[in-house]
Amino acid sequence: MHHKTIIEPFRIKSVEPIRLSSQEERVQYLKEAHYNLFQLTSDRVIIDLLTDSGTSAMSAEQWGGIMRGDESYAGASSWLRMEAEIKDLTGFPYVLPTHQGRAAERILYSYLGGEGKTFIANTHFDTTRANIEYSGATAIDIPIAEAYEPEQFHPFKGNMDTDKLRALIEEKGGANIGAVILTVTNNSGGGQPVSMANTREVAAICKEAGILFLLDACRIAENAYFIHWREEGFVDHAYRSIAQEMFRLADGAIMSAKKDAMVNMGGFLAVKDADIADACKNMLIITEGYTTYGGLSGRDMEAIAIGLQEVFFPDYLKYRIRSTTYVGDKLREKGVPIMWPVGGHAVYVDAKAFYPNIPVEEFPGQALACDLYLAGGIRSCEIGSVMFGKYTDDGQLIPAATELVRLAIPRRVYTQSHMDYMIETFDGLMDNRDKRTGYTITYEPPFLRHFTANFEPKG
Ligand SMILES: *Cc1c(COP(=O)(O)O)cnc(C)c1O
Repeated sequence: MHHKTIIEPFRIKSVEPIRLSSQEERVQYLKEAHYNLFQLTSDRVIIDLLTDSGTSAMSAEQWGGIMRGDESYAGASSWLRMEAEIKDLTGFPYVLPTHQGRAAERILYSYLGGEGKTFIANTHFDTTRANIEYSGATAIDIPIAEAYEPEQFHPFKGNMDTDKLRALIEEKGGANIGAVILTVTNNSGGGQPVSMANTREVAAICKEAGILFLLDACRIAENAYFIHWREEGFVDHAYRSIAQEMFRLADGAIMSAKKDAMVNMGGFLAVKDADIADACKNMLIITEGYTTYGGLSGRDMEAIAIGLQEVFFPDYLKYRIRSTTYVGDKLREKGVPIMWPVGGHAVYVDAKAFYPNIPVEEFPGQALACDLYLAGGIRSCEIGSVMFGKYTDDGQLIPAATELVRLAIPRRVYTQSHMDYMIETFDGLMDNRDKRTGYTITYEPPFLRHFTANFEPKG
């Protein structure tokens, strides 16, 4: 018989209790957190969808690897295992271990960047942009136009606009471009995939112009799943071989192991070019650690090597992508406005459409995130004018382009009933949603205010 139900392809061996709370308790908790979900302690959260980064559950194999970890300073067997795994996956001869993705970014972009350089990406992730700009260089995003249409279906909304790429190379001159970067999947919009055809085209353009082409490969396994099922000619290709093919088109890659390597901390940089590798290794030793551990313990490296294999298991990837899609489909059936199609690791709710009466100056995304917490103990993340809004000189808000709430799904952590509970929480919010009021900011720091700002409900 053919089963319709896709099950979690794992049994649970070790459990972490969730402390349930009442709505009255949460009213108090939220007040104490100044209506900022970053300021909640995790024991006051029932379902934590703040991020998929570093929140994965490790497998029994990975925990076994933790015990096997070789903590030798130089040449540890755990390093050799991680290095071999990454070389096989990426095809790049030089691998540098780092404590997380942004450390690899800092090392690579401080070497490639600097005043006068331009970097071009489908979309730079925020730490990528920050490291590039910190070096004095400029970061330009050129996703395809469909990326800005929340309701419009496109199978590869993460693609780069290659006409714009050609025009930018023409305008800036190839020698002034530090690198072209494809973020796979593209984090903005909830992990929209990039096609192999787009990757090939970007690679060919870069090769012809003599420009370095890099992958920000945090979610390359999730991306491979979409290529397998959505792109012509890949249905017979294994997920891992699709990822390998993608890496072979690039000159180097950065990866935060906190995503698709399914560990809680770690990252790496891998490159083809010996000179780049040498320069980066010198920086690695100064700021991260010796070349055979970077910023990692032996046990972390062991777990990364295992996670990079497990993430390509077909049953895992099917469960992973289908469970994210499940959440999106169910919310859409209820009439909750979301970014469409659903990407790999998160569902984005359009808070401006959900709360049409709340003006952007009162942060509809913040209101929805707080309401989800009050109604269900769910922690989500506002991605809108709290995170990206700016002010004019006379203090008027310049709102972000969109007011979104991200529901990021940790890997192998929650079951379908957890997701059903979360989806059900929206039922209570659907009524009266044209009568809701928003929030005002009562304290904010000069930078990255979403982490530490305080709020108060309006009216
Ligand atoms: C998480 C992430 C990074 C940065 O990695 P950290 O491990 O958080 O430092 C870079 N790029 C993308 C696309 C990411 O999702």
